[in-house]
Amino acid sequence: MAVTLDPQLLEILACPSPDHAPLRVGTPENPEADALSCTACGRQYPVVDGVPVLLLDEAVLPPGARSGPAVPADQPPAGGPPSEP
Ligand SMILES: [Zn+2]
Repeated sequence: MAVTLDPQLLEILACPSPDHAPLRVGTPENPEADALSCTACGRQYPVVDGVPVLLLDEAVLPPGARSGPAVPADQPPAGGPPSEP
């Protein structure tokens, strides 16, 4: 079941990432998905009870996305302070 959003609402919504790109309904894999996907970075935002959740924390960044954080979130930060005293 595809998301039905007011076209005017969809027009003013933008990706919360620095690209601030327009969003489109569904995902590239599934245009009927209950999600909005960014036309620039490809992040997918869930739509809960008809309300788009435009939070980077909630976004799904598909593998192979063109842009995004340089370091994956599941990788420990490099060059941290040494743990030994
Ligand atoms: Zn984006």
